[in-house]
Amino acid sequence: MITLSRIEKSFDGNRVLKNINLTIEEGTVTTLIGPSGSGKSTLLRCINLLEIPQSGELTIGKERITFTPDARIKGQDIRRISRQTGMVFQNFALFPHMTALDNITEGLITVHKWDRERARRRGEELLNKVGMLHKRDALPNTLSGGQQQRVAIARALAPSPAVLLCDEPTSALDPELSGEVVAVLRQLALEGTTMIMATHDLRLAANIASQVVFLEAGEIVESGSANDLFLHAKKPRTAEFIASLS
Ligand code: ADP
Ligand code: MG
Repeated sequence: MITLSRIEKSFDGNRVLKNINLTIEEGTVTTLIGPSGSGKSTLLRCINLLEIPQSGELTIGKERITFTPDARIKGQDIRRISRQTGMVFQNFALFPHMTALDNITEGLITVHKWDRERARRRGEELLNKVGMLHKRDALPNTLSGGQQQRVAIARALAPSPAVLLCDEPTSALDPELSGEVVAVLRQLALEGTTMIMATHDLRLAANIASQVVFLEAGEIVESGSANDLFLHAKKPRTAEFIASLS
């Protein structure tokens, strides 16, 4: 289980996340929706500690970290938490000079200290899972966007993180290419992968999510099932936002 309690994040005094409280059950998918600039990416980055909140508490499974404005967070505490997470970015962010397989094995070998053979087996297993084993020796620039994103998902999953964080994983893709990425994400959801995903794609959000969270101006306006938010929003702002996208 993942919990965020009273998370606050500011940039130069500008409060970007305001008193965020959120619980994510293991094996469920949470989607974050909201206007550009509402804080979706910052929220994801505060879970893998690419950004450090000023205050609040984050728990991922057995790992807990408390943020206070005056205390510096130690590198080892950041690593302890960030290793529980895998991240998929809008623009894939593959290492351009490495093959699909090497993109996956690199972190296993250098960060997680796996031996090469074990990393190769894990890399091939994951490439197979995302339907990309036939491209194991291909460089990213020879792959379509959808193929690159599938490799990026495999890379993020390689060390078996407790949670997969996805920041607009289909936004850079044409509809046809986004379909193949959605299919992979849906399969992962069915298998019980814990995921938190920011998306503009309401259909994806509705299809895949156990919980949908609507953020606006750094606040959680409303959260609930896809049915609750998309059909029976309690807050007018939620309904307006959903109407503006559909
Ligand atoms: P979203 O992903 O919902 O579009 P973001 O989390 O990217 O929103 O941004 C939320 C707000 O935080 C925006 O106003 C953005 O300009 C600001 N912001 C995000 N990252 C930084 C940063 N590194 N420095 C300063 N402001 C930032
Ligand atoms: Mg964003």
